[in-house]
Amino acid sequence: MSKTLAVGVDLGATRVKAGLVEGDRVVATLVEPLAPEDRTPEGAVERLAATVARLVADRAVAGVGVGVPGVIRHATGVVSQSPNFPAWHDLPLADLLRARLSVPVLLDNDANVVTLGEARYGAGRDAGDFALLTLGSGVGGGLFLGGDVYRGAEGMAGEIGHLVVDPEGPPCGCGGRGCLEQFASFNALRRWVQRDRLFGDLTGAAVQDPDLPERLFQAALAGDERCRSYFDEMGRRLAVTVGGLLNLLNLRLVVLAGGIARAFPAFSPALFAELPGRAFPAVLAAARVVPCALWEDAGILGAAALVLSR
Ligand SMILES: [Zn+2]
Repeated sequence: MSKTLAVGVDLGATRVKAGLVEGDRVVATLVEPLAPEDRTPEGAVERLAATVARLVADRAVAGVGVGVPGVIRHATGVVSQSPNFPAWHDLPLADLLRARLSVPVLLDNDANVVTLGEARYGAGRDAGDFALLTLGSGVGGGLFLGGDVYRGAEGMAGEIGHLVVDPEGPPCGCGGRGCLEQFASFNALRRWVQRDRLFGDLTGAAVQDPDLPERLFQAALAGDERCRSYFDEMGRRLAVTVGGLLNLLNLRLVVLAGGIARAFPAFSPALFAELPGRAFPAVLAAARVVPCALWEDAGILGAAALVLSR
């Protein structure tokens, strides 16, 4: 007897990645770029439905889970707003996709989906309650409490990246100032590189290069003082937030996911050095802070888990 199949979709800023999931395995994936016309509400529904249909072909699937960046109302499957898709306002994406695909469709915030994936199959497996931070272009967050993602009254809980670590800090896309996102993200690294004119020019390809974090990480490991200072600052600011989460919730686990978490060996020394000043000793002694386990697969496995764990 074959196992139940489900589709997990990870909707990024520039591409849609869909995966066919069987149990805890991604058995097939399809990645398609988003053209400008795919960014309108109608275009996005068209693109997502077409990608999923191509991936599924004639197989039977239990449903489709979709992780979307932004403010998502999980219960109703509505995208209230998304930083990557400014034209979307209260878009009933789950209903629109269900009408096209004729299978159940569930939606959640992208970081919540990663949290669910790590909870079911990754670093949070059998760990009980934990918090997860996605360190990417920005900083997302998820809270796994009492056996499920904690979503709050409006479905918007877990915006850990917008906890303030410096009240006088740089302005943030959320309208606030000095959020963690301004210190522990790709955008933060870019800002520091530009400030220090690390590559001479301020607008050149080096600053936009998606491999910039990896370059800085390797330079830091090789002993470059300036690059080390970036990851030190990242680690110290992360400690403020992580310490606050530990004190607030007495968690035993905090998981760091997203591409920038690959630099864990570069920023974790500063993080662990700073944490004792930021959390109660007894709380901290019971807690672990670790990199995620699933990396690129977390979004797809977690999105599929929205369907499979119903
Ligand atoms: Zn913010």
